[in-house]
Amino acid sequence: MVFLLTLHLMLLNGLKILINGKNINMHSSIDSYGVMGYPVSHSYSPEIHNLFALQTQQKIEYSRLQVSPDELESKIIEFKGKGGKGLNITLPHKTEVFKLADQITERASIAGAVNTLSFRNDEIFADNTDGIGLIRDLSINLKIPLKNKNILILGAGGATRGIISLILEMKPKSLLIANRTIDKAEMLANQVSHLGQVSTCPLNAIPAFKNYDLIINATSAGIRGEDSIYPTDVISNKTYCYDLSYGLKPTPFYEWAVNSGAHQSFMGWGMLVEQAAESFNIWRGIRPNTAPVLKKLITNA
Ligand code: NAP
Repeated sequence: MVFLLTLHLMLLNGLKILINGKNINMHSSIDSYGVMGYPVSHSYSPEIHNLFALQTQQKIEYSRLQVSPDELESKIIEFKGKGGKGLNITLPHKTEVFKLADQITERASIAGAVNTLSFRNDEIFADNTDGIGLIRDLSINLKIPLKNKNILILGAGGATRGIISLILEMKPKSLLIANRTIDKAEMLANQVSHLGQVSTCPLNAIPAFKNYDLIINATSAGIRGEDSIYPTDVISNKTYCYDLSYGLKPTPFYEWAVNSGAHQSFMGWGMLVEQAAESFNIWRGIRPNTAPVLKKLITNA
């Protein structure tokens, strides 16, 4: 037992041991992961995954990889060829990587976007963990119920595509998607109509309705420093507001929600950590405890 424990620690720490007079390198190869984006310097993924690895005693290395669109395919193949085990994919590559995948999960297909690649048995598996990341943050961390609730989503881009099927799975009472470009909202609603009823409207024509239980901001307006239109008469003192965007300062949506008297308002830090935990679980088969990582990330940000 003691021997096994010692051997395990040696493997974990990559130590050399002497067997039959030979110096054997017991360095358990370090599994490589990374995040590819363009730009990628803003990504918190390396910090998050390194904290997960430390917590779960997994020996991995995780790099930030700035890769332009024209070199995306070759860089993924190169990373995999060198024995890399998995990648997170961030903007602007989330849709491009589809064509490289051998297997795609249903949630990634519905999202039309991929944020997690795994390399196993010479195959590329593609997944999207954004939706489950949001649902876990809302349901488990924040204890915000979704079943039988009225939900409004602002935006119909990649992030909304990533979360919509999982929100519908929670059986809300109503789901309205409001987007600046109405065609995109309608296309998305049609695409998921087999999963549940979704209404749509233009962002500047959201009907006044004080019974929203949850309003989710999935536009990129605030984070890009652009003005957005926020609806009037949609927030009551029972409404939760959740901005997928996050920042060192309160985002414009977060501030709008607080100033409009929302019950509680949140930024997307929890979703960020939860979607990473899901990727980590896919790669390592271990679900890290996200609470201490989230706390550390927000404190150090
Ligand atoms: P995207 O695909 O580029 O879509 C952007 C969305 O924002 C579209 O619906 C777009 O409307 C809308 N929009 C952009 N500028 C606007 C403006 N000035 N006024 C009103 N609407 C505007 O981006 P995405 O991938 O969906 O990401 C959206 C946000 O979610 C980003 O800020 C991203 O950082 C965040 N996100 C967070 C997490 C997390 O883990 N917390 C995960 C994923 C995404 P049109 O269709 O009319 O252009």
